[in-house]
Amino acid sequence: MRLNVGSWFASTKRECPICGRDASQGASAAAAVPIPIRHPAPKQALASLCGLCRKAIPWIAHPVCPVCGRAESCEDCIRRAERFYEISRCAVRYTDAMKDWLALYKYRGNEGVETILAAMLAFALERLLAATSQASFPIITAVPLAPERLRERGFNQAERLACRLAEWYGMSYRPLLHRLRHTEKQSLKTRRSRVVDMRGNFTAVSTASFSGNIVLLDDVYTTGSTLDECARVLRQASEPQGDSRIYGLLWARS
Ligand SMILES: [Zn+2]
Ligand SMILES: [Zn+2]
Repeated sequence: MRLNVGSWFASTKRECPICGRDASQGASAAAAVPIPIRHPAPKQALASLCGLCRKAIPWIAHPVCPVCGRAESCEDCIRRAERFYEISRCAVRYTDAMKDWLALYKYRGNEGVETILAAMLAFALERLLAATSQASFPIITAVPLAPERLRERGFNQAERLACRLAEWYGMSYRPLLHRLRHTEKQSLKTRRSRVVDMRGNFTAVSTASFSGNIVLLDDVYTTGSTLDECARVLRQASEPQGDSRIYGLLWARS
């Protein structure tokens, strides 16, 4: 009997969904990197990463700002006089590696990458549940893209990620917002002009009726202006009298 040794290796070879390296190489070292998530599905998804990618994830394990969950103390949250969302939590710091991962997903729409990013968001969601002493949120929604952006890209990354989380954690995904326009080059503007710019960018979906606690998902938190403006619109539109509480869920904190 001839043994085909090559096919054994082929069958054990496992491609890392991010970098494409053989994730079975150094699998025992990778297993030593803990995955800080309780739900088995996202935990298993992250276990499919190679050791290097697993180590590259800059988890925000110890949020310093109690409001936005940033790993450093946070001028933005101290300065903001009025806030429409309760608190938010972010999974990771927005490092160069994380910028690459997000670009890989946004511009190619790769489903394997999507699963990884959603699994990382599970970490932030579990922290949000712990911080608010809740077992679950009934509704999850996402920051929408402006129509021309959606046409260009073909999908809304925040919506797709929210749907994955909804499935895992038994929440109901509801599209509740429209985005009327996209504001360019956020980083070049002052904070004040960003807040002013956001006004009028979003409206609530006119047919939606909703109440209670809502998780609002976006990919990257920069100043919190988008999150806050969406929360303002959602609260205003919620029934019976703006009684919804909005909780932010972000993949990365810049
Ligand atoms: Zn990898
Ligand atoms: Zn903060």
